[in-house]
Amino acid sequence: MEKIPVFAPAIGVDTLKHVTDALHVGWLGMGAITKEFEDLIAAYLGLQGRYVVATNTGTSAFHLSLRAAGVGPGDEVITPSFNYVADHQAIRMCGAEPVLCDVRYDNLGIDVEKAQALIGPRTKAIDPLHFAGIPCDMDGVYELAAKHGLRVLEDATHAFGTRYKGRKLGSFGDVTWFSFDPVKIVTSVDGGCVVTGSEEELHRIQRMRLLGVDKDTTERYKNRRAWDYDVVSEGYRYHLTNIMASIGVSQLKRVDEFINSRQRVCRTYSHAFRSIDGLCVPASDFTDVSPFIYSLRVLDGRREALIGHMQARNIDVGIHFLPVHEHTAFRACRRGDLSVTQKVAGEVLTLPLHSNMKPEFIERVIEGVTSFFHR
Ligand SMILES: *Cc1c(COP(=O)(O)O)cnc(C)c1O
Repeated sequence: MEKIPVFAPAIGVDTLKHVTDALHVGWLGMGAITKEFEDLIAAYLGLQGRYVVATNTGTSAFHLSLRAAGVGPGDEVITPSFNYVADHQAIRMCGAEPVLCDVRYDNLGIDVEKAQALIGPRTKAIDPLHFAGIPCDMDGVYELAAKHGLRVLEDATHAFGTRYKGRKLGSFGDVTWFSFDPVKIVTSVDGGCVVTGSEEELHRIQRMRLLGVDKDTTERYKNRRAWDYDVVSEGYRYHLTNIMASIGVSQLKRVDEFINSRQRVCRTYSHAFRSIDGLCVPASDFTDVSPFIYSLRVLDGRREALIGHMQARNIDVGIHFLPVHEHTAFRACRRGDLSVTQKVAGEVLTLPLHSNMKPEFIERVIEGVTSFFHR
């Protein structure tokens, strides 16, 4: 039987066409297609008075967000331990330290009350994750940040296209950053972007994206370079090339189709698993949710047995996440009570979810899970 992977890219002839066209432009680096990708993202998210900077990864988008917010040596940034380690590493890249916060049992987003208890004199920002595409407690996060003068740098890598109270994530708030890495719903093979509401911050992020050079962005957006320039700040090599952007553009044109098809699979899964005693399905009907992964919880210590059962049927499953406070490099991080993280880290299981997933794959995943519990 064919193996069912956890992730599968949705790449069609449309993408091939965009890439060959881009290769024929004669300008491989950051250029007009990068700008086109940014403009399409802004239009898709419904941005008004907010700006997009495309980057070569989501991690670099976050690093630039942190530096633009002034996060530096000795500062602290509060983020869940139940998150991908890219976030914690980017915080460390600034010379700052991640402070590890617990999550809520219902949506696996940051626990705002516990975050409040972690705020100290060196806390600069909070980095909440919208886990699996489901929005975190946004009102709570922004209230807390306003009360303590913190920047909010939202990790929306799982939630491109998710709406909160009718508005897409990124179209409001402080800073929101996304990833277009190989497994995300919209991919540019590797890529990411920052969305900010400050024009001044936009320009600083654009400069830091390309080695701190002052005139580069506007010229390169015309597939040109300036030969007289100044270097005005710290800088990195974090730009997105025309070629990668062309893949992103092709994907973005199909994003609604991708999201709708994934929502249907998630609803089918939840419908099939909701009545199983040993499982806890996501607390969402997926309306307004752009589902990056379908993560459910396996109770009563039976996760490892279920994983074996699925693997025997040639169905791959994943675990999002191994908690970061248990990794060697982050064991010493300041943290609060992590009891929910500890509990859910032993329960979470990610089932295969693809855009336009094959019906026989969906059936096999459902049969795999239900046969484990109903034998
Ligand atoms: C994908 C992802 C990132 C990093 O994005 P890259 O583009 O892979 O650098 C960060 N955090 C979370 C939770 C992610 O899923």
